[in-house]
Amino acid sequence: MPQDLERKYWNMAAETALNTPQVRELQLAKLQALLGRLYQGKPFWKQRMDEAGIDPQKLKSLDEYSRKMPIVDKALRRQLAEAAGGDIWKVIDQTIAVPAEQVVLMAATSGTTGEPTPYPHTKKDIEQKQEVFARIAWRAGIRPGDRIAHAFGLSMWLAGVPYVQYLQHIGACVLPVGAEGGTERLLRFIKQFRADTVFGTPSLLEHLIDRAPEIIGAPVGSLGIKRIICAGEPGAGIPEVRAKIENAYGARLFDHGGAHGISCDCAEYQGMHHVADDQVLFELVDPDTLEPIALEHGARGMPVQTTLDGEGMLWVREAFGDVFEVYTDPCACGQTGFRYKVVGRVDDMLKVKGVMVYPAAIDGFITGFAPRVTGEFRIVLTEKPPRVVPPLKLKVEYGEGVHESELEGLASEIQDKMGARLKIVPQIIWVPPHSLPRTAGKTNLFERVYAQ
Ligand SMILES: [Zn+2]
Repeated sequence: MPQDLERKYWNMAAETALNTPQVRELQLAKLQALLGRLYQGKPFWKQRMDEAGIDPQKLKSLDEYSRKMPIVDKALRRQLAEAAGGDIWKVIDQTIAVPAEQVVLMAATSGTTGEPTPYPHTKKDIEQKQEVFARIAWRAGIRPGDRIAHAFGLSMWLAGVPYVQYLQHIGACVLPVGAEGGTERLLRFIKQFRADTVFGTPSLLEHLIDRAPEIIGAPVGSLGIKRIICAGEPGAGIPEVRAKIENAYGARLFDHGGAHGISCDCAEYQGMHHVADDQVLFELVDPDTLEPIALEHGARGMPVQTTLDGEGMLWVREAFGDVFEVYTDPCACGQTGFRYKVVGRVDDMLKVKGVMVYPAAIDGFITGFAPRVTGEFRIVLTEKPPRVVPPLKLKVEYGEGVHESELEGLASEIQDKMGARLKIVPQIIWVPPHSLPRTAGKTNLFERVYAQ
């Protein structure tokens, strides 16, 4: 890499080619080579290709791959684990591109709701991710000599030790304090080692704002943090959360997460720019039918990813159950890479007369009517989601001081505006303020009244 610190991108050649026909050609060539290797060396993948009618020697286009190659999802991973009698290494050996002995670093999902999903890394996988993270960090303004306080959970999480390794490549100094270190340690080490960058979840960063005066005797704004990179939660894309964090720290907030991207410096959040087309084939599919959706401006669907050089971190049309919206029109920031926003999880999706809607979108919409509503509401499901027979029923708390005679008018206003914005006209069931149960953690917005 040239040491021109003023250059626009970490990798000028690769990043100026993002989302262009040249990179599509490269993707196809890499895909043909990958499928060829898997076909020769891994019976599991050979069988999958045979069943799908794919001959790696004759694969003509990325479209053909999208149409024919089946998706790998959580359900399939679970089946494989069961078939292997819970032997996680057996499944890994079966499904990665190289012998399992080549794995040098393991991370995994929590596995609290079943089998953990492993993230096995070979040496080459780490190098590949280092390249992607150097691109991400460079776009956030990180340069050699900067100091990054790492505040994600370190224990087994992908954003833990692997991220610590990825981030070193750019030449910045990583301080692996980790979320486990706790608030006090984080604040003290950020101060002592003069970190200028923090990498963590939005909720942890908000928590540090509250605790700093007591622990370091000064607000977080005194720490000299220049930039914050968030992941793991949607907060960085929510204007109120972003403004709160940026103002308190006096720093720029960047959003990273859900795929290989980072948000840009635009005043208004534009989603994350995807920076790794040469390494990862990114597709969208309909979460319901799994049919491919063209990657056009405004398209919405479930992301499906293929790691074109993956060895242990091998994804061959792997779906993690997210729903993204993508934007292919040029961004005001002038940077390359199509953009994406995380809009929800497939598990939370509702489909009302073919219109996809997420509780988070309804939440944001209802909150906009405060103080005429308290903001507390439930989505009443009379049958198993995702399909909802219209009208979608919303149980909404009206606000303090709202007279019952005003409710009918307010309901029509909500219906009209939601119809215009979310293309869904709900039925509003009014309930008095503070009548819905409050929970300390994440509120379940669904009230299920069908037999489960
Ligand atoms: Zn941008």
